[in-house]
Amino acid sequence: MHANLASPRPLIARVEPLTRTRAVRGPFDYRLRPEQADVGVGAVLRVPFGRQTTLGVVLALATESALAPERLAEPDAVLPPGVPADLVELAAWIAEQYCSTPARALSLVLPPGAGSGAGKPKPILVAELTEAGAGALLGAERLTDRQRVALSRLQDGGPALATALGTATLRRLEARGLVALRSLERAPRPDAVTIGRRLDGAAELTGDQRRALDAVLEALGTRDRDGAAQRFLLHGVTGSGKTEVYLQAVQAVLAAGRGAIVLVPEIALTPQTVGRFQARFGDIVAVLHSGLGQRERQEEWLRLRSGAARVCVGPRSAVFAPLADIELIVLDEEHDGSYKHEGDPRYDARAVAERRAEQHGAVLLAGSATPRPESVVALQRLRLPDRIDGRPLPPVEVLDMRGLHHPLHPHTRMALADVRAAETKAIVLLNRRGWSNFLSCRGCGHVWMCPNCEVALVLHRGQNFVACHHCGHRRRAPSRCEECGSIAVARHGAGTESIEEELRDAFGAELPVFRLDADAVAGKGRLAETLARFEAAPTGVLVGTQMVAKGHDFADVALGVVLDADQTLRFPDFRAEERTFALITQLAGRVGRGEDGGRVLVQTLAPQARSIALAAHHDTDGFLTVELRRRQALGYPPYGTLVRIVCASPDAGDALALATRLHEKIVPAGATVLGPAPLFRLRGRSRSQLVIKCHDRLATLRAVGAAVDACAADAVRRGVSVSVDPDPQ
Ligand code: ADP
Ligand code: ZN
Ligand code: ZN
Repeated sequence: MHANLASPRPLIARVEPLTRTRAVRGPFDYRLRPEQADVGVGAVLRVPFGRQTTLGVVLALATESALAPERLAEPDAVLPPGVPADLVELAAWIAEQYCSTPARALSLVLPPGAGSGAGKPKPILVAELTEAGAGALLGAERLTDRQRVALSRLQDGGPALATALGTATLRRLEARGLVALRSLERAPRPDAVTIGRRLDGAAELTGDQRRALDAVLEALGTRDRDGAAQRFLLHGVTGSGKTEVYLQAVQAVLAAGRGAIVLVPEIALTPQTVGRFQARFGDIVAVLHSGLGQRERQEEWLRLRSGAARVCVGPRSAVFAPLADIELIVLDEEHDGSYKHEGDPRYDARAVAERRAEQHGAVLLAGSATPRPESVVALQRLRLPDRIDGRPLPPVEVLDMRGLHHPLHPHTRMALADVRAAETKAIVLLNRRGWSNFLSCRGCGHVWMCPNCEVALVLHRGQNFVACHHCGHRRRAPSRCEECGSIAVARHGAGTESIEEELRDAFGAELPVFRLDADAVAGKGRLAETLARFEAAPTGVLVGTQMVAKGHDFADVALGVVLDADQTLRFPDFRAEERTFALITQLAGRVGRGEDGGRVLVQTLAPQARSIALAAHHDTDGFLTVELRRRQALGYPPYGTLVRIVCASPDAGDALALATRLHEKIVPAGATVLGPAPLFRLRGRSRSQLVIKCHDRLATLRAVGAAVDACAADAVRRGVSVSVDPDPQ
């Protein structure tokens, strides 16, 4: 990895320039100057590129180039810290698996703020305790208070960034051989003392938890012997204590002096889980999330890179945590849709986690009460069939809403009245924000539509505007029809905003209502605050979108209600059933966690729907069996791969023409190409879609990549954008 100083030839770095354009593909060769001889794979460089300069990442080193040395440019600067070599390799894999470019994939793994620092970059130093240093703490060596504090910190917490302990102090300790300082890119010294932390606070496990944990511990123990690590699915009903199993598995990893990544759906929605990791392990946990400023993010990244932090908890991007020695990757709530990234590269953090675990020989531990059919087939299942303390899962009643015109079924009203009388709590889920679905004119039938998209505008009455939930367009709520002048504007359907008011009107101040949706909790910290207020309140109703069904652990929720449960079924998507089943089961999971138990009501226009009926019986196995059979018959994942291609352009004809051309060009063996099919107009662009069903994923992606590249010039000329989405959600 490092320069061979004896080599007489100039050292060549193969550099991928970080440009956005698809047409530019590296790597390109650069000649390193003698003082750049220790540049390794993953180093971030500023390089001349054409007439400009750009950032680039070193993919490989070489002693020869196809070009003569004098024709090669030299990098302008080396910008520490670099990307760890395993992440460079992971980026290459992502570029290929998700039909993206190396440059875009590399941008996912760059250190936060790479290349943004002004002035001459300073090397980043990491301090480690030496044997002599450990001895000095015990012996009679003369130490100042400050030196003693620094040594103790290194003893308790392992390596640390020099800046965190005071570089001057550390330099003096280094001179006495008590501390070793190394630059971040260098591997830890073999004689440095690694410390397993002393840990406490762990719960006494139930028998099922014990069995699951033992299986994981055994896999952790055997990974060094045969290389191939194991992958588990912790399938445990809601409230069965999955988190405690993760915690104790991580504990074992830390005790062995190694690292772990814990992926959670969304930090803001899972403060309890994150808090439990921090409370148990303290400073050795780094948390990466979008709420951090650049400085904090940089700091957490460096703590991980240096080994000062050895557990990273975070949402999907935490799968790229720069940990050196990963022994375990936990995927909490593995069914959650937020693991899929919607920008290019459209990676799925679950698949990336599997790949990363493979790279490190790490154990993968995915957990859910509603696992994906994909995981059930691919992973080794561990079961937690019961809730902690043997509490039962709440009974679920399906309420037929056909012929009813009120948003709340009479049974729902009675149940809420009971909650008010007993001073307990309820959660009401309606997966649609705003006041009503759409507005129409009673005079002429005019429907208020988005000018950019083929969708109706949604009324937000609180702030008096109508908005498009796809492109964000908004305008004042109309008081009269622009077509015929009528002032009779009808509102159709209900959203979380109108249900909130409905509940206030019906149950008064004795039953406070807390609303949780993207509108109500816009703004930093609002979401956590709403959850905390609901938790602290003696009684109340939490009403909101699917956010209310995420892993919250409230003790005293006696009633859960799902409104319009078949809404998710109306999406034309092969995952509609899975999503509906998970939503109901997850909401039921929030109910009855305390001593008093609870119950769940599901309002629907489709009471016979399979996913609803099976969820009402908590029959996850039954659901998975039928769902897997259906997918097998249709060749859907996990029995095949889907790739979605969307062409979009201002002109409908152009998008369709390009989709048609792509269809002709893509001829992968054994794959079926469906389409082009029109999609609704979005953000002023007409869209045309192809869906490919295949068995040989890589061959298909290569064929798609080649076809897209072949059409690229034409696409640019006509203003058509092409997006390729393997494993679409
Ligand atoms: P899940 O993630 O499976 O939904 P949690 O991990 O949130 O379940 O556990 C549910 C509750 O049970 C939590 O309050 C947790 O602290 C508690 N718990 C977990 N394991 C045990 C145990 N072995 N003994 C007692 N309480 C436990
Ligand atoms: Zn009208
Ligand atoms: Zn719109």
